[in-house]
Amino acid sequence: KVQGMGNGKEEKILVLVRLRPLSENEITRNEVADWECINPTTILYRNSLQERSGLPTAYSFDRVYRGDCATREVYEEGTKDIALSVVGGINSTIFAYGQTSSGKTYTMNGITEYTVADIYDYIQKHEERAFVLKFSAVEIYNEVVRDLLSTDNAPLRLLDDPERGTIIEKLTEETLRDWNHLKELLSICEAQRQIGETSLNETSSRSHQILRLTIESSAREFLGKDNSTALAASVNFVDLAGSERASQALSVGQRLKEGCHINRSLLTLGTVIRKLSKGRHGHVNYRDSKLTRILQPALGGNARTAIICTLSPARSHVEQSRNTLLFASCAK
Ligand code: ADP
Ligand code: MG
Repeated sequence: KVQGMGNGKEEKILVLVRLRPLSENEITRNEVADWECINPTTILYRNSLQERSGLPTAYSFDRVYRGDCATREVYEEGTKDIALSVVGGINSTIFAYGQTSSGKTYTMNGITEYTVADIYDYIQKHEERAFVLKFSAVEIYNEVVRDLLSTDNAPLRLLDDPERGTIIEKLTEETLRDWNHLKELLSICEAQRQIGETSLNETSSRSHQILRLTIESSAREFLGKDNSTALAASVNFVDLAGSERASQALSVGQRLKEGCHINRSLLTLGTVIRKLSKGRHGHVNYRDSKLTRILQPALGGNARTAIICTLSPARSHVEQSRNTLLFASCAK
């Protein structure tokens, strides 16, 4: 099988920023929206109270999306191309990064569904090839990996396979029957994540979720005879822990006060992303966290990567929003 075959070109990480609208709650609290997308690539911080504070106010990325922009649009002209490269045998990863309540889950849910719908569409139009779709889902909380498709809450071990790289031991991998089957599995994941939430105190803001769709295909005329036309690749949809965890981990005061919950995966992801953005050569510290170990085959080499940084427009969140844009700038 050809794993992660590419065109040999190195690609930059696609960095998108998505503003969400003020929530009902924020409007009731008389929150002010200080962020504005002034053109398709620039987002501006405009606070009438701090006009002359000297802080940078404009940030540019591959694409920025206004609060009234539909997820469909973020998908179509943002991540679609990268996600669908999986049908041609190229691994990819799409991240949602941002503080809790900035819109990560809202964005990722939509993008996952649109991607799978387009993959099914592609399969129907390419009858000359036989496709098998597999789905798996894990959550990483405190560097412990759990299977979101299993009711067994036991931690999963990561193993090093000489051929396949890092594999997750005993991970449930479902072969998708159809679109409805996927919807079923997604609701199981959501339920599993919510069970964790009540017992572990708000885990969804502290945990990372990786949904992985693996596509294997081969030309029908060679089925069972010749494996040289076989392709296999995965697309990973990653709903990251709230980014406030990373900045908390960096603040010493917080460390002393809380006994510190450092989100190692989120911090390591930051360093890995910075390295990759400077060219995909040299040593990258994938092994420093569970998240980056699991995603390694879909991050380095000729894998394709997009990061959607989600942002609350509210004035009270300006510090976290700036942190998010700082992370986004490092990934460019
Ligand atoms: P996170 O996963 O980052 O904690 P959520 O995705 O749960 O945040 O979003 C928080 C709330 O804001 C949810 O109620 C969600 O429906 C709403 N929301 C997020 N992004 C948007 C958006 N772009 N447009 C409308 N509502 C949004
Ligand atoms: Mg969420």
